[in-house]
Amino acid sequence: MTAKASSEGLMEEIVGLCKRRGFIFPSSEIYGGYNGFYDYGPLGVELRNNIKQAWWRDMVQCRDDIEGLDSTIIMHPDIWKASGHVDGFSDPMVDCRESKLRYRADQLFFAPVIVAGETIGYVSVVECPEQQEIAEKAAADMKRKAAKQGTLEPIVLKDYTESNPEEYDLIPSPATGKPGSLTAPREFKLMFETKVGPLADESAVAYLRPETAQGIFANYKNIVDTGRVKIPFGIAQIGKAFRNEITPRNFIFRSREFEQMEIEYFIAPSADWQALHREWIDTCIDWLVSIGLPRASITEDIHPQDKLAFYSQATTDLMFQFPHGEQELWGIACRGDYDLKQHQEHSGKSMTIFDEASKEKFVPHVIEPSLGVDRTLLAVLTAAYTIDEVPNDKGKVEQRTVLKFSPKIAPIKAAIFPLLKNKPELVERAQALYKKLQRRWNVFFDASGAIGRRYRRQDEIGTPFGITIDFDTIEKDGTVTLRDRDTCEQRRVTEDQLIQFLEEQIDG
Ligand code: ATP
Repeated sequence: MTAKASSEGLMEEIVGLCKRRGFIFPSSEIYGGYNGFYDYGPLGVELRNNIKQAWWRDMVQCRDDIEGLDSTIIMHPDIWKASGHVDGFSDPMVDCRESKLRYRADQLFFAPVIVAGETIGYVSVVECPEQQEIAEKAAADMKRKAAKQGTLEPIVLKDYTESNPEEYDLIPSPATGKPGSLTAPREFKLMFETKVGPLADESAVAYLRPETAQGIFANYKNIVDTGRVKIPFGIAQIGKAFRNEITPRNFIFRSREFEQMEIEYFIAPSADWQALHREWIDTCIDWLVSIGLPRASITEDIHPQDKLAFYSQATTDLMFQFPHGEQELWGIACRGDYDLKQHQEHSGKSMTIFDEASKEKFVPHVIEPSLGVDRTLLAVLTAAYTIDEVPNDKGKVEQRTVLKFSPKIAPIKAAIFPLLKNKPELVERAQALYKKLQRRWNVFFDASGAIGRRYRRQDEIGTPFGITIDFDTIEKDGTVTLRDRDTCEQRRVTEDQLIQFLEEQIDG
């Protein structure tokens, strides 16, 4: 039997496992933690690096049309004026004056409670997969407490940005359950400010980048001038980004310090951008599947034309079924020539390129696939987390927790076990194999405890292969036992077969 934990408890179980086994810790935990910041422990950093390396290999190394870049986190503040972030990068927020809690207005939902045509109050709820049920239950409770007779009209939730000023005092705060303490929505700037240089005045203000993309636009000219690229081509970058999110939540899904993997793909203004956009969407889906996400858990959210920024031609988000609901994982936007034109205007430097093929000079248009490393990691954990039942050493069926990571991104690729720890000849042979494999992959050596217990420990952290050295290895044919994490099947292989198999599974 294989079962996913119920989605309700799934996030807590993943968070618990990540802490217990050293994937992810709350930042500054010995000081009580720091909201919106997380640290990656020994297994987390391996998983994270493997995700980034897989992306870099597939998007940069294996493509002739994409170049890599690593730009600084703090850049000239004018870049953020040109990009529109200084004036426009904000979210609507609403404060609860009583609890001092702050909400993102577009994530705070409310509805009037109408009984027999009369509004008897309002209900509110913070965005979550069960928001409709929670609001309906609160409305039914309100009707009962008010002892109102008649039909309760359907609860139609709207977000707080759609409320009108007369409603601010009527909508209850989700924190207190009482109306009268919520403020009007206000814009909240998401960029972190800092000061650069010895002067502490306004001229020293700089920003931690809220996205890596602007570093790409700022270097576009350098890369074009090095002469290696021709239209269409892309520039890719992996790096930290910072946003002072109003309500960081859902573990690493929305944090204040995170990492992005972004590409700006430059195309001719006359190119069939719709076809290229579609190609990028498919490439992105294929990549997610290649690192182990089930195809059925990925959907496309096409932004309606009237919700797009004025310069944007189209945006499709790839959505993933996270434990807290279906949410954006990867945004793929067609941004026209907006960004390059803005930088051309603000910097006074030409952003045109000469296209040999068409003999035309133009400012290219751009398609931007933008993916979060941390969200990808949470998606990978969600897809991998499984509770199933397998027989133990004695044939008794037991429940186990297993992370079914793809071998490509698993933090530890294989664990090497001498069958018994008090037999030096077994331990030595296992150590020799361990040292040999360690030069190529992250592998683990474990000699302590019953073999079944050692398997379980590795299952829980997602190690795809277990390799046991037993008496047949040293006394007979040199073969080892190779155990598959998911099926628990075991077979004997020679060392050469083992290495070929690991190459195919991990690097293939
Ligand atoms: P959201 O609507 O969820 O805030 P967004 O549309 O603002 O996301 P983009 O600006 O398009 O996100 O950023 C590109 C990608 O960066 C997102 O698809 C996501 O994977 C990642 N990302 C954005 N904000 C965060 C964050 N606060 N924490 C973790 N990852 C993030």
